[in-house]
Amino acid sequence: MTKPKISLEPSLPDELTASQTRKLSKKPERFRSEVYFTGRAIQGGRLEWVTTSVMILFHVLAITALFFFTWKGFLAAIFLYLLAGHVGICMGYHRLLTHRGYKVPRWLEYFFTICGTLALEGGPIAWVGTHRVHHQTSDREGDPHTPRDGKFWSHMGWVISGEALHADTNRYMRYVPDLAYNKFYLWLSKYHWVSIIAVAVALLAWGGWSAVLWGIFLRTVLGLHATWLVNSATHLWGSRRFATRDDSRNNWWVALLTGGEGWHNNHHAHPVSARHGLAWYELDTNYYAIWTLKKLGLARDIHVAKYDLKDPKPSGVS
Ligand SMILES: [Zn+2]
Ligand SMILES: [Zn+2]
Repeated sequence: MTKPKISLEPSLPDELTASQTRKLSKKPERFRSEVYFTGRAIQGGRLEWVTTSVMILFHVLAITALFFFTWKGFLAAIFLYLLAGHVGICMGYHRLLTHRGYKVPRWLEYFFTICGTLALEGGPIAWVGTHRVHHQTSDREGDPHTPRDGKFWSHMGWVISGEALHADTNRYMRYVPDLAYNKFYLWLSKYHWVSIIAVAVALLAWGGWSAVLWGIFLRTVLGLHATWLVNSATHLWGSRRFATRDDSRNNWWVALLTGGEGWHNNHHAHPVSARHGLAWYELDTNYYAIWTLKKLGLARDIHVAKYDLKDPKPSGVS
């Protein structure tokens, strides 16, 4: 098998514009290498028109869906919201691929990843790379989506600006060596948009245009905002159990929308933990699903955060 070429040198953008170079030269030396092609200092300021156009189209058609209600469309939207968002993004892209919080058979890992592509959040390599960089640089220089760079920026500004990094597999390969040598993940990262088109065609045949409007456009837009709220709202509003170096918070309403990802302060304190809701009242349906998979013999080596209730400390701090 031929391995893809991966540069292990610090990867700055190939070509910086004059204004980007100027911005960068003002930064201390430690910010000029390593991961800092991400972050608003480099990526901000310029709309990326392809992504912006797709986002406008999806939002307009999501609103249109409200005028074409059918029960089939409604059911398709709920089913695909859970499948793409909770199973694909939260259990798959996030807890499994990014943090390796548990293990499943390879076929199930691939299935989760295909579900993740249905969320229109890019391929697994760029997604996992972006999120690993977020954990390395949380709320500091280089964080791809910190609210310290602006609330709108942290929510969706970072997706529609810059150089379409969400689709740039090559840039992120060095952060994702565990996926970058796998032909299936390389293929899926390139063709991540195929699954959503296939599902759209199937929905059209099954339930007509209403099913497409609800199951693809409205559902995808709601799913995108739910994911983006984890980057924006949970670094702004909520409580803090652990004194982490970032601004992460535990936010119950984002947790409800995402099946548990809103317990984000818990998550930043114990990133490898497959369980995010650590108290009994912190609803974490994604973890309950992983626990169920274990009972079925399909999940193993599940990491669960251990901490002292009276003196909670982040992992790595004694
Ligand atoms: Zn975060
Ligand atoms: Zn994470």
